[in-house]
This record gives sequence, structure tokens and C-alpha cells, in this order.
Amino acid sequence: MNLPQTDMPLFNRLRFVLVETSLPGNIGAAARAMKTMGFVEMVLVNPRDAGFARSDEAIAFASGAQDVLENARLVTSIEEALQGVHFAAAVSARLREYSPPIVSPREAAATACALDAPVALVFGNERFGLPNEIVEKCNALINIPANPDYSSLNLAQAIQVLAYECRLAAIGDAPRETNIGFQGEPASAEQVEGMYAHLEQALVKIDFLDPHNPKKLMPRLKRLFSRTQLETEEVNILRGIARQILDRRNES
Ligand code: SAH
Repeated sequence: MNLPQTDMPLFNRLRFVLVETSLPGNIGAAARAMKTMGFVEMVLVNPRDAGFARSDEAIAFASGAQDVLENARLVTSIEEALQGVHFAAAVSARLREYSPPIVSPREAAATACALDAPVALVFGNERFGLPNEIVEKCNALINIPANPDYSSLNLAQAIQVLAYECRLAAIGDAPRETNIGFQGEPASAEQVEGMYAHLEQALVKIDFLDPHNPKKLMPRLKRLFSRTQLETEEVNILRGIARQILDRRNES
């Protein structure tokens, strides 16, 4: 997906929604998984134990992340949990016949990062996962690629995987479809074409390219350059080299 980049950090606008969680220990472990990756916003839809924040098990599993646990918001419906959210992804071990587009954790993290709005990840119950009605409300379905013969992760571990991918995307350390290795301004098609023409002249000048028998040299060079996203400055460097070759040859 090609979405504009934003400066608003994902850490402040990514909500982890846990639906009908059964075990307080998992809620505690989920809080820890989120906090280790820098995320803090937890919303619980009808957990079995509404007093989870004071449960010994939850506190033990949360370890130092009790603040996330204490600040978790308790709601009674998925609509309430997703209020104000612009992109929600259902996280599910099960693929369904009818579902929103299926994406990997990495793709979902890149999309969440690129949006300038609150986003949510929605996780299901330990035994039953997410019901279809909730999956259908979401914009994407995230499946963690796992062992096909044993693909169901523990809830908190699934949260850890997603939180990790989102952290990498947020700090700019994940490969992104949209801007792999970008630093400067991407060169325009005209600039790249101009550079090819310039380079071709220089190669003819030094007799590397025979204009009467060019073979596949230029198409091969174009293929080589097209595998990288050239920046304006890089195109200028290549044109500078071509110019120098032409000037030197004209002098001699
Ligand atoms: N038996 C349930 C699995 C529940 S595991 C089912 O069939 O769906 C609890 C939650 O962890 C799931 O609802 C989901 O949110 C997450 N989860 C576990 N394994 C996952 C995987 N491989 N891909 C995506 N989410 C997963």
C-alpha cells in the first residue's frame, strides 16, 4: 500500500485490543510484551475476569509492566474498543472464506506506521480466537506465518510478534515496500532518462559501446539501474562522470 509517511509516532497511536481474554496471566504477559516494545495502550473487551488488574497471576506475568495493566481500558463492545481508530487489523491464526485482505505482520506494521491516525490490532480469545463478525469489521487480517502443523501461538506471544514488528517499523528499521533505503529525493523518470542518454554518449566516446552494433549493453545497464531507486544526487554523480569522460576525450 502506498501511504504517506507521518511524523506522529506509532507508539502513541497504536492500540492493542484483546477480545474476551480468559486468563489474567495472559493479560499480564501481554502488558509486558507491549511495554518491552514501547507500546502502552491496552483495551480489553469483556475479559472473563474484570478484576484482572489486581489478579496475582496478571501482576506476576506483567513483571515491570503493571502500569500498562492498570491503565488498560475495559469496554463492553468491539465498537467501543475501536472508537476513533482509522485502521484496524484482526490478528488471527485462522484464515476464513470471507475476510478482509490477508497481510503479514510486517506489511501491517508498515501500513500502521504510514497512517497519520489511531490504529488498532485486535486479538482473540485463547480458545476460540476471533469471531467472524469482528474480523469482518477490520480492514485487514494479519496471520503470523507459523508451522502449518502447529500454527496457534499463545496470545501474549502473538502480541509480542506484532509489537516487535511495529517497533521495527516505527523506528525505521524494517524493510518497507514504500521506501527501501531512501535518503534523498528520488530521481524523476526524466532525470534517469537524461542520465542514460548522457552515459550512452560517454560509452560511445570511449569505444565501449559501438553505435552500429550496440548489442544489449544499454538495456542491461538500464535493468541494473532500475533495480535500485536512484536519487537525484546519484543521477547527477553519474552524469558528472559522463561529462568528464566526454570533456577529456574532446581535449585529447
Ligand atoms: N484456537 C484459536 C487460537 C487462539 S490463540 C483460533 O483458532 O483462532 C489466541 C490469539 O492469538 C488469536 O485469537 C490471535 O489473535 C493470536 N494468534 C495466535 N496464533 C496466531 C497466528 N499464527 N497468527 C495470527 N494470530 C495468532
